[in-house]
Parts: sequence; C-alpha cells; structure tokens
Amino acid sequence: MNGLIMDYPLTTTTILNYAKSAFPDKKLISYLPDGTRHEYTYGQLYKRCCQLANALKNKLGITKGDMVGTFAWNHYQHVELYYGIPGIGAVCHTINIRLSSQQTEFIINHSEDKVIFVDATLVPLLEKIAPLLETVEKYIIINAASGFTTSLPNIMHYEDLIGEQIETIDWPSLNENDASGMCYTSGTTGMPKGVLYSHRSTYLHAMTILTPNAGNYSNKDTILLIVPQFHVMAWGFPYMCLLTGSDMVMPSLHLQPDAIIKILESEKINKANGVPSIWRGVYEAMKKNPPKTKLALEEYLVGGSALSASLIENFEKDFGIKGVQAWGMTETSPLGTASRLQQKHENLSEKEQIKIRAKQGIEFPGIEMRIVGDDGEVAPRDGKTMGELQVKGAWVIKSYFKTNSRDSFTKDGWFRTGDVSTIDADGYMEITDRTKDLIKSGGEWISSVALESALMSHPKISEAAVIAIPDEKWSERPLATIVLADKNNTVSSEVLKEYLAKDFAKYQIPDHFVTIDQVPKTSVGKFDKKEIRRLYAEGKL
Ligand code: AMP
Repeated sequence: MNGLIMDYPLTTTTILNYAKSAFPDKKLISYLPDGTRHEYTYGQLYKRCCQLANALKNKLGITKGDMVGTFAWNHYQHVELYYGIPGIGAVCHTINIRLSSQQTEFIINHSEDKVIFVDATLVPLLEKIAPLLETVEKYIIINAASGFTTSLPNIMHYEDLIGEQIETIDWPSLNENDASGMCYTSGTTGMPKGVLYSHRSTYLHAMTILTPNAGNYSNKDTILLIVPQFHVMAWGFPYMCLLTGSDMVMPSLHLQPDAIIKILESEKINKANGVPSIWRGVYEAMKKNPPKTKLALEEYLVGGSALSASLIENFEKDFGIKGVQAWGMTETSPLGTASRLQQKHENLSEKEQIKIRAKQGIEFPGIEMRIVGDDGEVAPRDGKTMGELQVKGAWVIKSYFKTNSRDSFTKDGWFRTGDVSTIDADGYMEITDRTKDLIKSGGEWISSVALESALMSHPKISEAAVIAIPDEKWSERPLATIVLADKNNTVSSEVLKEYLAKDFAKYQIPDHFVTIDQVPKTSVGKFDKKEIRRLYAEGKL
C-alpha cells in the first residue's frame, strides 16, 4: 500500500523557491575577480535565476538533458548557474579549472558541453584548447573588464545574455531523479570520470550537511565558501545556504591567506569550509600577524585531505577557532562523514578528544560504510583492523558517466572508495592509506601512474615510480624515483620538469627526482610503492 503523502519532488528549484519564500532578504556577497564587492539578496538571486533560465531556453536553445559547462570562480553568477541550468532540466557541469589542458579538453568533449560559461580571467586556459572542443557552440563570458578581447569563437557576455529576459518563469516540473549536475574526478590511469548528480541526491545531501551532527548551519550564520564551485559543487554549500537561510560569501580568486583573513574580518564570517592547506595557510598568517580584534569565525569545516591533530589543537589554542573534519569524495556528492564529539566524550582529556576529532568521523544518516579486509570479509569495528572503505547511500554514485564502472563496485552493490581505513567501536572512521595510486596536493589530485608513464617515455629513463610524500603546506607532494637507461648518463631535475610541463599542470610536477638503481618490485613484479615509501620514511632516498 502506498502512503497517502504528496508526491513533492526534491529538486534544486524546490530549494530556490524555498529561499525566495523564507529568506528573501538573506545575502549573497561576492568578492569578484577584479576585487570589487558585490552584494544582493536571495530575493534578487531568484529573479536573476529566472532571467538566466529564460535566456538558456530562448537565446541559447538549451533543452532538457543538455550539458552546460561552467569554468568559473565562486561568485553570484556561478550560483545563478547552479540553479538556472538544472531548473530547466539541463545539467550544470562544473569544470575544474586546475586540470591540465589535455584533461580539460577530454572532459568537455566527453560530457558534450553545448555552452560554456567562463570567467574572463580564465579565458586564456580555454583559448588554448577551443579548436579541439567538438560540441561547444557558444562561450558566455562572465565578469569581463572593458577592453576585454579573446580568440574564443561565438562569445557573448553574461549580462547581455540575461539582461533583457523577464524576472519570472514557469519552472518546468522535473522528476527528482533527473540529472542536475556533473563533476569529473581524476582517474588513477586514463582520463577523468564523470559523476552525475540527481536533483534528489543534491537536495538530500544539502539537507544533511546542515544538520548539527554535520556542518551545523542555520539562518544565524554567515558562511565563507572557500571550496571552489568547480570542486564537487563547493561541497553542496550553494544549495545548503539557501535551505538554511545562511548568508553566503564568495571569494572568487581571492584565496591567499591574507585575502581570506580580510574577508573573514570585514564580513564577520562565523563559519567556513576549505581544504587543510588553505586553513594551515590562514593559521600561519594569523600567527605571524594576529588580527587586532578577535575574529567572529567559530568553526571551519575541513575535508579533501586529512586535518591534522596539530592544526586542530593550535588553531583552537591560539585563536579559539574550531576545526571540524569531514570526509568525502566526488562520488559521494561529496560529504559522507564528519567528526564531532558526542556527549559520551565530554569527560575525556583534551588530548583524547583531539584524537577523535582528527579521525574522519561517523557517517551521516543516508550513508552506510564498512571496511573490507584483503580476505573479502567485513572487518570488525575495533579501531585497529584496516581494510578498504566501502560506502553506499542516497547520494553515492551507482555508475560513472558513459564509463565502465564495474571495478568500482562490489558484487553486492557497495562503492569501493579506494581509501584504506579503520572504524572504531564508537563508529569513527579513520583513513590510514589509499589503494588508488594518486597523490592529493592542496586538494587537487595528481596521478602517479600518469607521471610515471610520462617519465618513462623520456629517452634517458628506463623506469620511474612516483610516491606521495607528506608536506606541511600541501598535505602531500609527489616524489619521483627514476632509474637511468644508461647508468653513465645523468638527467637534471630542470630538464625533467620542463619535459613534464608539456602534459601536466604546474602543481602536478614533482619537486624532487631521486635516481635509484632499480625500482623495488612486489612478488608479481608490480612497483612496490610501500617499499619506496618505507625507504623514504627511513631517509634512504
Ligand atoms: P575527491 O573526489 O577529489 O573529493 O577526493 C576524495 C578523496 O580525498 C577520498 O577518497 C580520500 O582519499 C581523500 N579525502 C577526502 N577527505 C579526506 C579527509 N578528511 N582525510 C583524508 N583524506 C580525505
């Protein structure tokens, strides 16, 4: 028997309509790329989303199921795109601006973006590859200064596009399972893979991250969204803030510690998100030059890489600001866990409490997690037994976009995260390692396999193995070990860096190259990365 409850679709338009009705005066503040401050209300956001949706349909011919790309910083126009595009049934495909041009070209062709909305400051990155983009019919430029020129074909300016459109729309009724957004995630080998979110998963994820056990947000908060909108939908915060009626502050490209501190001060930000390298930078800058008056910032939510116990401790001791660790993946929308203390932990020593908070945390309702050992058995929750972390849930991927996904799932339908972890008796998950051969530096992925194959194509190198090494600032950096084809020859780091620069973004290029006699191998002849990491840890590299 069906329940007798209305069929009420959980869509991004449901979120937008709610904010217009409940929080029309709450603010969206943007620090634009040219440094100007822009402010308007959620009521005005609603009207501009209608204008944009009308323009997408009437001027650009976008229809249901079309892919619309964005290549942009965090600002109000990008938020408008987050609602206007899915609002008419199209898919908001946010393209990571930090990838190599080869990966960007692949992603745009693979997703078949019809139109790309691009920030003027990022246009040079697309100009390089525009002739290779097979499906893009138009580029819409956002935030162009006067005198802006480009070699991109078929351009139009954002304000010209939406300017004459009416401020109302009869939003089409959508199925909550329709696709609403897409992000690509780095593959260990081969090219990035697309993760296609639905309206329903976006809604449920946003509803969950605002809850007290997760981010704990309400209409009393002013939140700085440091996580880029081109990274897993800024962790769903542009949707979440409209549900809670929190004021939302967008920094665009002003992401250096001093610029962030200035925004924290002037906007009286009390909550924020970001990867650990950003918060480490902010902490160090504040330590060097302490703010004259205490910041309003109470709490920062961290994910993407591990938040260390020392950063949690120091930020709190020196400035009274609390770090909350979350874990997630592009494939999990992204947030799946957070680490907050529970009532039963109140009497623990500070040290013990920080130890818990430095774990990745307990799962949110709507997410299930387990760890599975090498023997294929589900490991006990004893805080010691390690295994692969597997998840399922209402905002976890069931298949990649147009890509064979079989290896990413178990036979009984769990998603294999590629993270190695433990879960303790209280249910707190802790990441200890990674099975995927990737390095995460400042929140961005670097494929060790791709670096190795590029290095091994160099005529002077016979073998190369790349490992992640810990780095204070960036969490991890790549270290390349190389075996020379001719032992009497040499090749300098500078030459290798230049060689890799053809195919890799600057941040992906290793800082150090170490020549070794041979790469250690496992019994089946694979590169033994564990052994290389051990040699590094013992100072033998
Ligand atoms: P991405 O898909 O780029 O968001 O990366 C997801 C991966 O980042 C996870 O599978 C983990 O390897 C890593 N990650 C995310 N959050 C954390 C965290 N809090 N601590 C350690 N690693 C993390």
